[in-house]
Amino acid sequence: MSFELLGLSEPLLRAISKKGYETPSPIQTKAIPPVLEGKDVLASAQTGTGKTAGFTLPLLHILSENPKQKYRPIRALVLTPTRELAAQVYANVKEYSEFLNLRSAVIFGGVNQKPQVATIRQGVDILVATPGRLLDLESQGALSLKRVEIFVLDEADRMLDMGFLRDIERVMKLMPDKRQNLMFSATFSKDIKKLAYSILNNPVQVEATPENTAVEIIEQKVYRVAKGKKTGLIIKLISDGNWKQVLVFTRTKHGANKLCKKMISAGISAAAIHGNKSQGARTKALAGFKNGSVRVLVATDIAARGLDIPLLPHVINFELPNISEDYVHRIGRTGRAGASGEAISLVSADETTYLRDIQKLIDMKIPVEIVEGFEPDPNASTEPVKPGQNRNQGRGRNSNSRNSSRNNSGNKKNSSRNRNRRRSDNRG
Ligand code: AMP
Repeated sequence: MSFELLGLSEPLLRAISKKGYETPSPIQTKAIPPVLEGKDVLASAQTGTGKTAGFTLPLLHILSENPKQKYRPIRALVLTPTRELAAQVYANVKEYSEFLNLRSAVIFGGVNQKPQVATIRQGVDILVATPGRLLDLESQGALSLKRVEIFVLDEADRMLDMGFLRDIERVMKLMPDKRQNLMFSATFSKDIKKLAYSILNNPVQVEATPENTAVEIIEQKVYRVAKGKKTGLIIKLISDGNWKQVLVFTRTKHGANKLCKKMISAGISAAAIHGNKSQGARTKALAGFKNGSVRVLVATDIAARGLDIPLLPHVINFELPNISEDYVHRIGRTGRAGASGEAISLVSADETTYLRDIQKLIDMKIPVEIVEGFEPDPNASTEPVKPGQNRNQGRGRNSNSRNSSRNNSGNKKNSSRNRNRRRSDNRG
């Protein structure tokens, strides 16, 4: 299959070739034709599959086929759960539309709204947005969604995880009933199917890869370790392995900062990325990580979601997530685009239940190792910490809002209920 055969216009083919893409990825091969035909599409695809081009290319094709409208109303809306993902999708839209007469903009919270409003005033064809800022600006009269022809809901599962369902419903009411809808999600829970049913009209369903493919190609390892020895062990692993680009997950923002400081003290360049960091600081950390000046990026789940970091060789779970699906998302950051990767989890006694749930979800046993000098504490309790208690820093209201609302029982049913209650620190 080639991009030409998919029927994309010449200016798009030129942009694709400038990006260096030779053949469409499976999700692109499957999603582009029905989108070009004007159909609603429900796609199962995670980050790393080329899904962004899968919806952006045909969307740009459709918009460019119709003549430019005088005041450039917003004709396409792409809704994403996080600021980082919005920025990334926007960067893609800009690149792919380089040879087209189309304008685009991105809006998200956490930064001054004035420049965003000024850009929209000049007229944009494509708007990429996070829900909070979009609704804010709409209610201020700074933008209108009444002329939207194509609506894209990206990472729908994460949207629900982050508690954006009501916001999505509000956005839907602001758009015309007659429009084309595209929805992307990595997982398909009952709630996602319900949402899809309410948004999509007789959709074509496409799937990039079976859900757990990523899990199978990634080399996974668990190090059993005493809680107090995790920092020493992670520093040893990174130093001994001379790893150059490592993404580390912590459960809380505070934990991310603390670990980052310890890495730096140990002579390892590191940066933290989470919801309390300013947009500028996050962008800088990510850029440093991509260009190699930052060896270790310490992130919370929400901050890392959707980050486009190609070919990441190492992912370390400093702490296991108590939502098993988050484990799959985390390790999906490695082994992308067919390259193999390594995912390591440091597991202390009180994370035993989480490990069990994760293994159940991915349907495999992860090999366990113990490093001399960093042995687990035989006397530590395997009880997960009580709800509301931060597992790292004892009690504290300062923990990540996702974590603070969690029931730490490790019970799947409760976990999924909590998932729906989570609000994001990334909101807007
Ligand atoms: P995404 O899943 O949209 O986040 O894309 C993941 C990565 O794959 C990004 O770095 C894209 O630039 C890249 N990519 C997308 N489509 C292709 C393609 N057809 N060939 C090679 N790389 C691609």
